[in-house]
Amino acid sequence: MNETDRNEIHDVVVVGGGAAGLSAALVLGRARQRTLVVDAGEPRNAPSAHMQGYLSRDGMSPAGFLALGREEIARYGVELVRDRVTDVTRGEDFTVVLEAGGVVRARRLIVATGLKDELPDVPGVAERFGQDVLHCPFCHGWEVRDEPFGVLASSAMSVHQALMVSQWSKNVTFFLHRVAEEELTDQDLRRLAAAGVDVVPGEVAELVVEDGRLAGVRLADGTTHARSVLFVGPRPLPQTSLLERLGAEMNETPFGAYPVVDPTGLTTVPGVWAAGNAIGFAEQVVHAASGGYRAAAAIVGDLLMSRLDAAVDG
Ligand SMILES: Cc1cc2nc3c(=O)[nH]c(=O)nc-3n(C[C@H](O)[C@H](O)[C@H](O)COP(=O)(O)OP(=O)(O)OC[C@H]3O[C@@H](n4cnc5c(N)ncnc54)[C@H](O)[C@@H]3O)c2cc1C
Repeated sequence: MNETDRNEIHDVVVVGGGAAGLSAALVLGRARQRTLVVDAGEPRNAPSAHMQGYLSRDGMSPAGFLALGREEIARYGVELVRDRVTDVTRGEDFTVVLEAGGVVRARRLIVATGLKDELPDVPGVAERFGQDVLHCPFCHGWEVRDEPFGVLASSAMSVHQALMVSQWSKNVTFFLHRVAEEELTDQDLRRLAAAGVDVVPGEVAELVVEDGRLAGVRLADGTTHARSVLFVGPRPLPQTSLLERLGAEMNETPFGAYPVVDPTGLTTVPGVWAAGNAIGFAEQVVHAASGGYRAAAAIVGDLLMSRLDAAVDG
């Protein structure tokens, strides 16, 4: 993109080129909107070698999926730059500041910046995340079915996670880690027992890795439990600073603060839509792509109506 291009106003700038942003861009390009995607290139599922549960794309690599998406948007004249948006201001239109220098202008904005996973600080977890340290049984449960699972108590949802993963293996150990046994309710204990989940108190000191694979979980007292899969509950850190800077109303949840949006993803800031993990931690790839589509379609109508109204008003 040269300086002249940058000074021209885009119909839409999409911040983030994951499933949500690229899906929005595809719809916008096909609707003949001048669209720019700015993408920092760090999609959330990058640690995984495969992506599951997206009909017709089940098992594809996350990188391959996004590469296809980038090819598809290019066919409709959508531009994509590898850069990071550091600031956005709203005047008559939006002024979008890029990290590498330069500024672009847009009539409408889609924020599809995803979220980051803050992992529990147990040695070995970060290194193995997305391989045999997992967070989502819907994403990876089938591939590791019937293996010996561990679940690390690391979030308010950990009991739920220990129960859920028992759908994929009957050999589940729930490591209480820094949670006292007394914190579990009677209902928790009854359900864990009914699901056949072993509850093991004591802090987890580290993961045991042998031949490049998870082999076990070692507690602080030195005992080791042989496990080939460990589920953890990362803390979601939604990447919503641009929305906050624009003054979007946010909704505090136990899983982070997300923008208040209407069913199309329109935030409380006129002209600003959001989609994907930027609006909710549970948005899977298929939801993110669908959210991007909905936001884009709404913008096409919104831009058209404002052009028509401007023409009527003279
Ligand atoms: C290990 C792992 C495995 C997973 N496996 C599956 C699976 O098998 N199936 C499934 O459906 N889901 C899976 N998920 C969930 C999946 O990652 C999300 O559903 C999906 O990534 C959401 O898409 P998104 O477009 O909202 O965000 P992302 O894919 O995270 O894309 C956001 C993009 O925005 C960019 N960005 C952020 N801020 C800026 C900025 N300021 N300027 C420019 N660009 C920016 C980022 O760099 C990134 O490229 C998995 C998640 C994890 C962590």
